[in-house]
Amino acid sequence: MPKRVVDPHSDMEEAPQEEVEIQSLRPRSLREYIGQAKAREHLQIVLEAARKRGEPLDHLLLYGPPGLGKTTLAQILGHEMGVGVKTTSGPVLERAGDLASILTSLEEGDILFIDEIHRMNRVVEEVMYPALEDFKIDILLGKGPAAQSIQIDLKRFTLVGATTRAGMISAPLRDRFGMMLRLEFYEPGELKTILKRSADILKVPLDDEGALEIARRSRGTPRIANRLLRRVRDFAQVRSDGRISRGVADQALGMLEVDSLGLDRPDRRYLEALIQKFGGGPVGLDNLSVSLNEEADTLEDVYEPYLIQIGFLVRTPQGRKATLAAYDHLKLRPKDPGGQGELL
Ligand code: ADP
Repeated sequence: MPKRVVDPHSDMEEAPQEEVEIQSLRPRSLREYIGQAKAREHLQIVLEAARKRGEPLDHLLLYGPPGLGKTTLAQILGHEMGVGVKTTSGPVLERAGDLASILTSLEEGDILFIDEIHRMNRVVEEVMYPALEDFKIDILLGKGPAAQSIQIDLKRFTLVGATTRAGMISAPLRDRFGMMLRLEFYEPGELKTILKRSADILKVPLDDEGALEIARRSRGTPRIANRLLRRVRDFAQVRSDGRISRGVADQALGMLEVDSLGLDRPDRRYLEALIQKFGGGPVGLDNLSVSLNEEADTLEDVYEPYLIQIGFLVRTPQGRKATLAAYDHLKLRPKDPGGQGELL
Protein backbone atom coordinates (compact mmCIF):
# COMPACT_ATOMS: atom_id res chain seq x y z
CA MET A 1 0.00 0.00 0.00
CA PRO A 2 1.42 3.46 -0.78
CA LYS A 3 2.20 5.38 2.39
CA ARG A 4 -0.66 7.72 3.24
CA VAL A 5 -0.20 10.99 4.99
CA VAL A 6 -3.58 10.38 6.63
CA ASP A 7 -2.79 6.82 7.75
CA PRO A 8 -3.84 6.71 11.41
CA HIS A 9 -1.46 3.84 12.20
CA SER A 10 1.74 3.99 14.16
CA ASP A 11 4.41 6.46 13.10
CA MET A 12 7.06 3.76 13.54
CA GLU A 13 8.35 3.98 9.99
CA GLU A 14 9.06 7.69 10.19
CA ALA A 15 12.64 8.91 9.93
CA PRO A 16 14.58 8.75 13.24
CA GLN A 17 14.78 12.54 13.68
CA GLU A 18 11.00 12.70 13.28
CA GLU A 19 10.60 9.95 15.84
CA VAL A 20 12.09 12.26 18.49
CA GLU A 21 9.64 15.01 17.55
CA ILE A 22 6.71 12.61 17.62
CA GLN A 23 7.65 11.44 21.10
CA SER A 24 7.91 15.03 22.32
CA LEU A 25 4.28 15.63 21.37
CA ARG A 26 2.85 12.85 23.51
CA PRO A 27 1.03 14.24 26.57
CA ARG A 28 2.49 12.92 29.84
CA SER A 29 -0.30 13.64 32.31
CA LEU A 30 -4.07 13.39 32.28
CA ARG A 31 -4.22 17.17 32.52
CA GLU A 32 -2.35 17.51 29.22
CA TYR A 33 -4.56 14.92 27.55
CA ILE A 34 -7.07 16.86 25.49
CA GLY A 35 -10.62 15.76 24.65
CA GLN A 36 -12.18 12.34 25.43
CA ALA A 37 -14.00 13.98 28.33
CA LYS A 38 -15.97 10.86 29.23
CA ALA A 39 -12.98 8.54 29.32
CA ARG A 40 -10.93 11.10 31.23
CA GLU A 41 -13.58 11.55 33.87
CA HIS A 42 -13.83 7.80 34.42
CA LEU A 43 -10.11 7.48 34.67
CA GLN A 44 -9.81 10.37 37.07
CA ILE A 45 -12.17 8.57 39.41
CA VAL A 46 -10.54 5.15 39.21
CA LEU A 47 -7.10 6.70 39.61
CA GLU A 48 -8.15 8.51 42.73
CA ALA A 49 -9.88 5.47 44.17
CA ALA A 50 -6.90 3.19 43.46
CA ARG A 51 -4.50 5.72 44.99
CA LYS A 52 -6.66 6.03 48.11
CA ARG A 53 -6.85 2.28 48.58
CA GLY A 54 -3.18 1.90 47.75
CA GLU A 55 -4.06 -0.76 45.21
CA PRO A 56 -3.22 -1.28 41.55
CA LEU A 57 -5.75 -0.11 38.97
CA ASP A 58 -8.34 -2.54 37.73
CA HIS A 59 -7.66 -4.13 34.33
CA LEU A 60 -8.80 -1.80 31.59
CA LEU A 61 -9.74 -2.26 27.95
CA LEU A 62 -9.46 0.73 25.61
CA TYR A 63 -11.07 0.48 22.24
CA GLY A 64 -11.51 2.68 19.21
CA PRO A 65 -9.86 3.43 15.86
CA PRO A 66 -6.07 3.79 15.65
CA GLY A 67 -4.34 7.07 16.49
CA LEU A 68 -6.86 8.31 19.06
CA GLY A 69 -4.59 8.04 22.08
CA LYS A 70 -4.82 4.55 23.57
CA THR A 71 -1.07 4.05 24.01
CA THR A 72 -0.79 7.58 25.32
CA LEU A 73 -3.44 6.90 27.95
CA ALA A 74 -1.68 3.74 29.13
CA GLN A 75 1.52 5.70 29.60
CA ILE A 76 -0.32 8.50 31.38
CA LEU A 77 -1.88 5.99 33.78
CA GLY A 78 1.59 4.70 34.59
CA HIS A 79 2.82 8.22 35.17
CA GLU A 80 -0.20 9.15 37.33
CA MET A 81 0.13 6.00 39.45
CA GLY A 82 3.91 6.31 39.65
CA VAL A 83 4.43 2.81 38.24
CA GLY A 84 6.28 1.30 35.29
CA VAL A 85 4.64 0.56 31.95
CA LYS A 86 5.70 -2.39 29.78
CA THR A 87 4.42 -2.36 26.24
CA THR A 88 3.85 -5.21 23.85
CA SER A 89 1.27 -6.28 21.30
CA GLY A 90 -0.99 -9.23 20.60
CA PRO A 91 0.80 -10.50 17.48
CA VAL A 92 4.25 -10.24 19.13
CA LEU A 93 3.24 -12.64 21.90
CA GLU A 94 3.54 -15.81 19.86
CA ARG A 95 4.13 -18.37 22.58
CA ALA A 96 2.89 -18.80 26.13
CA GLY A 97 6.52 -18.36 27.24
CA ASP A 98 6.66 -14.88 25.67
CA LEU A 99 3.83 -13.72 27.88
CA ALA A 100 5.12 -15.58 30.93
CA SER A 101 8.48 -13.87 30.75
CA ILE A 102 6.90 -10.43 30.57
CA LEU A 103 4.44 -11.17 33.37
CA THR A 104 7.15 -12.43 35.71
CA SER A 105 9.21 -9.28 35.10
CA LEU A 106 6.46 -6.93 36.29
CA GLU A 107 6.79 -5.11 39.61
CA GLU A 108 3.92 -4.53 42.03
CA GLY A 109 1.36 -2.18 40.46
CA ASP A 110 3.05 -2.05 37.04
CA ILE A 111 0.99 -1.62 33.92
CA LEU A 112 1.23 -4.11 31.09
CA PHE A 113 0.01 -2.50 27.88
CA ILE A 114 -0.98 -4.92 25.12
CA ASP A 115 -1.82 -3.24 21.85
CA GLU A 116 -3.97 -5.10 19.30
CA ILE A 117 -4.99 -7.46 22.05
CA HIS A 118 -7.61 -9.02 19.78
CA ARG A 119 -4.75 -10.56 17.81
CA MET A 120 -3.35 -12.51 20.75
CA ASN A 121 -3.53 -16.23 20.07
CA ARG A 122 -5.62 -18.68 22.05
CA VAL A 123 -2.75 -20.43 23.84
CA VAL A 124 -1.31 -17.15 25.06
CA GLU A 125 -4.75 -15.92 26.00
CA GLU A 126 -5.31 -18.92 28.22
CA VAL A 127 -2.15 -18.15 30.19
CA MET A 128 -3.60 -14.71 30.69
CA TYR A 129 -6.81 -15.74 32.46
CA PRO A 130 -5.37 -16.89 35.82
CA ALA A 131 -2.82 -14.09 35.63
CA LEU A 132 -5.60 -11.51 35.46
CA GLU A 133 -7.79 -13.13 38.04
CA ASP A 134 -5.44 -14.52 40.69
CA PHE A 135 -2.06 -13.10 39.65
CA LYS A 136 -0.75 -16.61 39.02
CA ILE A 137 0.41 -18.48 35.96
CA ASP A 138 0.82 -22.17 35.27
CA ILE A 139 3.85 -23.04 33.26
CA LEU A 140 4.55 -26.39 31.67
CA LEU A 141 8.17 -27.45 32.03
CA GLY A 142 9.53 -30.09 29.69
CA LYS A 143 7.67 -32.07 27.07
CA GLY A 144 5.67 -35.27 26.74
CA PRO A 145 4.90 -37.52 29.71
CA ALA A 146 7.74 -36.05 31.78
CA ALA A 147 6.28 -32.55 31.52
CA GLN A 148 5.58 -30.87 34.81
CA SER A 149 3.29 -27.99 35.53
CA ILE A 150 4.43 -25.41 38.03
CA GLN A 151 2.58 -22.43 39.32
CA ILE A 152 4.25 -19.05 39.64
CA ASP A 153 2.93 -16.18 41.71
CA LEU A 154 2.98 -12.80 40.02
CA LYS A 155 3.05 -9.31 41.47
CA ARG A 156 -0.28 -7.55 41.30
CA PHE A 157 -0.29 -5.70 37.99
CA THR A 158 -2.76 -3.90 35.74
CA LEU A 159 -3.45 -5.00 32.20
CA VAL A 160 -4.35 -2.21 29.82
CA GLY A 161 -5.50 -3.77 26.57
CA ALA A 162 -6.06 -1.78 23.39
CA THR A 163 -8.03 -2.82 20.38
CA THR A 164 -9.59 -1.41 17.28
CA ARG A 165 -12.14 -4.23 17.41
CA ALA A 166 -13.87 -4.75 20.70
CA GLY A 167 -16.10 -7.32 18.97
CA MET A 168 -13.16 -9.60 18.27
CA ILE A 169 -12.18 -10.03 21.91
CA SER A 170 -13.29 -13.38 23.27
CA ALA A 171 -15.93 -13.29 25.99
CA PRO A 172 -13.71 -14.87 28.70
CA LEU A 173 -11.02 -12.24 28.13
CA ARG A 174 -13.51 -9.40 27.95
CA ASP A 175 -15.10 -10.49 31.22
CA ARG A 176 -11.80 -10.13 33.03
CA PHE A 177 -11.53 -6.40 32.39
CA GLY A 178 -12.92 -4.28 35.20
CA MET A 179 -13.56 -1.43 32.82
CA MET A 180 -13.98 -0.88 29.09
CA LEU A 181 -13.57 2.61 27.66
CA ARG A 182 -14.36 3.61 24.14
CA LEU A 183 -12.33 6.41 22.60
CA GLU A 184 -14.18 8.64 20.17
CA PHE A 185 -13.04 10.65 17.17
CA TYR A 186 -12.05 14.17 18.23
CA GLU A 187 -13.97 17.33 17.38
CA PRO A 188 -12.15 19.93 15.23
CA GLY A 189 -12.03 22.28 18.24
CA GLU A 190 -10.22 19.64 20.32
CA LEU A 191 -7.80 18.88 17.50
CA LYS A 192 -7.16 22.58 17.18
CA THR A 193 -6.12 22.70 20.85
CA ILE A 194 -3.87 19.66 20.32
CA LEU A 195 -2.32 21.32 17.26
CA LYS A 196 -1.67 24.58 19.09
CA ARG A 197 0.06 22.65 21.86
CA SER A 198 2.12 20.66 19.34
CA ALA A 199 3.06 23.82 17.44
CA ASP A 200 4.31 25.38 20.70
CA ILE A 201 6.45 22.33 21.42
CA LEU A 202 7.83 22.28 17.87
CA LYS A 203 8.20 26.09 17.88
CA VAL A 204 6.16 26.49 14.72
CA PRO A 205 4.16 29.72 14.34
CA LEU A 206 0.59 28.53 13.82
CA ASP A 207 -2.37 30.90 13.97
CA ASP A 208 -5.89 29.92 15.09
CA GLU A 209 -7.32 29.72 11.60
CA GLY A 210 -4.41 27.68 10.32
CA ALA A 211 -4.85 25.30 13.25
CA LEU A 212 -8.55 24.93 12.58
CA GLU A 213 -7.95 24.23 8.90
CA ILE A 214 -5.53 21.41 9.71
CA ALA A 215 -7.88 20.17 12.45
CA ARG A 216 -10.81 19.88 10.04
CA ARG A 217 -8.76 17.79 7.68
CA SER A 218 -7.29 15.41 10.28
CA ARG A 219 -10.09 12.82 10.32
CA GLY A 220 -10.79 13.35 14.01
CA THR A 221 -7.42 11.75 14.82
CA PRO A 222 -4.60 13.39 16.83
CA ARG A 223 -1.89 11.25 15.24
CA ILE A 224 -2.94 12.48 11.80
CA ALA A 225 -3.27 16.08 13.05
CA ASN A 226 0.30 16.04 14.34
CA ARG A 227 1.58 14.47 11.14
CA LEU A 228 -0.20 17.00 8.93
CA LEU A 229 1.20 19.78 11.09
CA ARG A 230 4.74 18.57 10.44
CA ARG A 231 4.11 18.30 6.69
CA VAL A 232 2.48 21.74 6.54
CA ARG A 233 5.41 23.17 8.51
CA ASP A 234 7.83 21.84 5.86
CA PHE A 235 5.74 23.51 3.17
CA ALA A 236 5.54 26.78 5.10
CA GLN A 237 9.30 26.85 5.58
CA VAL A 238 10.09 26.19 1.94
CA ARG A 239 7.31 28.09 0.19
CA SER A 240 6.68 30.98 2.59
CA ASP A 241 8.05 32.57 5.76
CA GLY A 242 7.50 29.56 8.01
CA ARG A 243 4.24 30.82 9.49
CA ILE A 244 1.17 28.64 9.15
CA SER A 245 -1.96 30.58 8.29
CA ARG A 246 -5.16 29.19 6.90
CA GLY A 247 -4.02 29.91 3.34
CA VAL A 248 -0.68 28.16 3.80
CA ALA A 249 -2.38 25.15 5.41
CA ASP A 250 -4.87 24.99 2.58
CA GLN A 251 -2.18 25.09 -0.10
CA ALA A 252 0.00 22.52 1.62
CA LEU A 253 -2.85 20.10 2.21
CA GLY A 254 -4.06 20.61 -1.34
CA MET A 255 -0.62 19.60 -2.55
CA LEU A 256 -0.76 16.51 -0.36
CA GLU A 257 -4.16 15.75 -1.91
CA VAL A 258 -5.92 15.80 1.44
CA ASP A 259 -9.30 17.33 0.71
CA SER A 260 -11.51 19.64 2.77
CA LEU A 261 -12.82 16.73 4.88
CA GLY A 262 -9.49 14.98 5.24
CA LEU A 263 -10.16 12.39 2.55
CA ASP A 264 -7.21 11.41 0.39
CA ARG A 265 -6.95 9.56 -2.88
CA PRO A 266 -7.35 6.04 -1.45
CA ASP A 267 -10.54 7.12 0.36
CA ARG A 268 -11.93 8.54 -2.85
CA ARG A 269 -10.92 5.37 -4.68
CA TYR A 270 -12.82 3.36 -2.07
CA LEU A 271 -15.96 5.47 -2.48
CA GLU A 272 -15.69 5.52 -6.26
CA ALA A 273 -15.41 1.73 -6.36
CA LEU A 274 -18.41 1.40 -4.08
CA ILE A 275 -20.45 3.79 -6.19
CA GLN A 276 -19.30 3.09 -9.71
CA LYS A 277 -18.56 -0.62 -9.61
CA PHE A 278 -21.17 -1.70 -7.12
CA GLY A 279 -23.94 0.80 -7.75
CA GLY A 280 -23.45 2.39 -4.33
CA GLY A 281 -23.93 -0.94 -2.55
CA PRO A 282 -24.93 -2.80 -0.56
CA VAL A 283 -21.80 -4.78 -1.25
CA GLY A 284 -19.87 -7.23 0.92
CA LEU A 285 -16.50 -6.29 2.38
CA ASP A 286 -14.75 -9.13 0.55
CA ASN A 287 -15.91 -7.93 -2.85
CA LEU A 288 -14.67 -4.44 -2.09
CA SER A 289 -11.41 -5.84 -0.84
CA VAL A 290 -10.81 -7.77 -4.07
CA SER A 291 -11.84 -4.87 -6.22
CA LEU A 292 -9.51 -2.42 -4.44
CA ASN A 293 -6.72 -4.94 -3.97
CA GLU A 294 -6.61 -3.97 -0.31
CA GLU A 295 -6.92 -6.20 2.74
CA ALA A 296 -10.38 -6.43 4.25
CA ASP A 297 -8.92 -5.66 7.70
CA THR A 298 -7.38 -2.43 6.40
CA LEU A 299 -10.66 -1.38 4.86
CA GLU A 300 -12.46 -2.09 8.09
CA ASP A 301 -9.93 -0.52 10.46
CA VAL A 302 -8.56 2.39 8.47
CA TYR A 303 -10.93 3.47 5.72
CA GLU A 304 -14.37 2.78 7.06
CA PRO A 305 -14.55 4.19 10.62
CA TYR A 306 -13.99 7.72 9.42
CA LEU A 307 -16.26 7.38 6.37
CA ILE A 308 -18.97 6.13 8.71
CA GLN A 309 -18.26 8.93 11.18
CA ILE A 310 -18.76 11.62 8.55
CA GLY A 311 -21.90 9.92 7.27
CA PHE A 312 -20.55 8.79 3.88
CA LEU A 313 -20.90 5.08 4.50
CA VAL A 314 -23.32 2.80 6.28
CA ARG A 315 -22.82 -0.81 7.20
CA THR A 316 -26.02 -2.78 6.68
CA PRO A 317 -26.62 -6.50 7.16
CA GLN A 318 -26.48 -6.77 3.34
CA GLY A 319 -23.15 -4.94 3.07
CA ARG A 320 -21.63 -1.48 2.70
CA LYS A 321 -23.68 1.34 1.22
CA ALA A 322 -22.64 4.81 0.10
CA THR A 323 -24.87 7.64 1.32
CA LEU A 324 -26.07 10.62 -0.71
CA ALA A 325 -23.54 12.78 1.13
CA ALA A 326 -20.77 10.64 -0.38
CA TYR A 327 -22.20 11.05 -3.90
CA ASP A 328 -22.38 14.81 -3.31
CA HIS A 329 -18.84 15.06 -2.07
CA LEU A 330 -17.49 13.17 -5.08
CA LYS A 331 -19.77 15.13 -7.39
CA LEU A 332 -21.44 11.93 -8.51
CA ARG A 333 -25.14 11.36 -8.63
CA PRO A 334 -27.09 8.19 -8.15
CA LYS A 335 -28.62 6.94 -11.41
CA ASP A 336 -31.75 4.88 -11.19
CA PRO A 337 -32.02 2.57 -8.20
CA GLY A 338 -29.31 -0.05 -8.40
CA GLY A 339 -27.67 1.84 -11.26
CA GLN A 340 -24.20 3.32 -11.22
CA GLY A 341 -23.22 6.75 -10.11
CA GLU A 342 -22.74 9.26 -12.88
CA LEU A 343 -20.71 12.42 -12.94
CA LEU A 344 -22.87 15.45 -12.21
P1 ADP B 1 -3.27 4.81 19.60
O1 ADP B 1 -2.52 4.03 20.63
O2 ADP B 1 -4.74 4.91 19.90
O3 ADP B 1 -3.03 4.36 18.18
P2 ADP B 1 -1.51 6.99 20.42
O4 ADP B 1 -1.72 6.98 21.88
O5 ADP B 1 -0.23 6.39 19.93
O6 ADP B 1 -2.75 6.33 19.65
O7 ADP B 1 -1.66 8.52 19.94
C1 ADP B 1 -1.06 8.99 18.76
C2 ADP B 1 -0.46 10.35 18.98
O8 ADP B 1 -1.51 11.31 19.07
C3 ADP B 1 0.33 10.50 20.27
O9 ADP B 1 1.68 10.34 20.06
C4 ADP B 1 0.02 11.90 20.76
O10 ADP B 1 1.02 12.79 20.32
C5 ADP B 1 -1.26 12.27 20.08
N1 ADP B 1 -2.41 12.25 21.01
C6 ADP B 1 -3.28 11.23 21.18
N2 ADP B 1 -4.25 11.56 22.04
C7 ADP B 1 -4.01 12.83 22.42
C8 ADP B 1 -4.69 13.75 23.29
N3 ADP B 1 -5.82 13.41 23.90
N4 ADP B 1 -4.15 14.97 23.45
C9 ADP B 1 -3.02 15.31 22.79
N5 ADP B 1 -2.35 14.50 21.96
C10 ADP B 1 -2.82 13.28 21.75
